Amino acid sequence: MDELNKPLEKLDPDFIRKNVKAVTFDVDGVIMPTGTFLRESFDGTKLTIKTHKLSKKMIEMIKELKKYVWINFSSGRALLYLEYMLEDILWDKVSLIGENGNFILIDGKVQQLSLCNQSYLQKLTNIRNDIKKLKKEKPDKIYGFEPKHIIITVHTANKMPEIEKIVKKHDKENELYCLWTSEGYDIGNIKTNKQTALCFLSNRLKIKPEEMITTGNNLNDKEMLNFGIGISVDPEQVSGKYAIQKKKGMLGGEILAKYLLMAFAR
Ligand SMILES: [Mg+2]
Repeated sequence: MDELNKPLEKLDPDFIRKNVKAVTFDVDGVIMPTGTFLRESFDGTKLTIKTHKLSKKMIEMIKELKKYVWINFSSGRALLYLEYMLEDILWDKVSLIGENGNFILIDGKVQQLSLCNQSYLQKLTNIRNDIKKLKKEKPDKIYGFEPKHIIITVHTANKMPEIEKIVKKHDKENELYCLWTSEGYDIGNIKTNKQTALCFLSNRLKIKPEEMITTGNNLNDKEMLNFGIGISVDPEQVSGKYAIQKKKGMLGGEILAKYLLMAFAR
């Protein structure tokens, strides 16, 4: 097996210029700081979310990068929310992948990429209801749910084995993942992840995996980083072919964008 987490400087700028046709940015923790504030009322009738927007610098860099490559964003967030977060750099030469690979928005159309049936959705509903019961017992531990179509994202104060237990209880078929994301849990179908969506995208763009750079910082980015030229921005969490070490006050995605522009514009 190839050596993992090589420093970014080992990625040859000439190679980038000649071969790279698309870049996939993970959103939270890569091009925006992590830390979404979410609070939902008990009955689910009131929801407050506070999050970040792209920095001016990042907006400029992405606009510049678009001259050379296709830009894709892949996130656990819902597409609708990604549209708001990324509105400054949409819509040309851009695609959005939401809910950990379940949806893509490309060329003005939303497509569902996952196989998902009624019994799967029922299972998620049952899990959500059990987590809601747990929230009643532990209101200071469970903040609420992020609105999503076909995965569950529950925000919590810290890791909660009880949530993993609830998922196991309902998932006799072992078809679900339950991943800690540092601000809660993502729960969804194992068969659909950020990598399966990238396979779709590379077919659509008619490019090979090795012509795409992918990025990530978290466990839900593991499969994505195995696709194409994976660059981890948090090698303690997840590995890639290359890695950018965490640097205070500087996002890994910014460091990467700067490096890519240097390679393309030389
Ligand atoms: Mg992330």
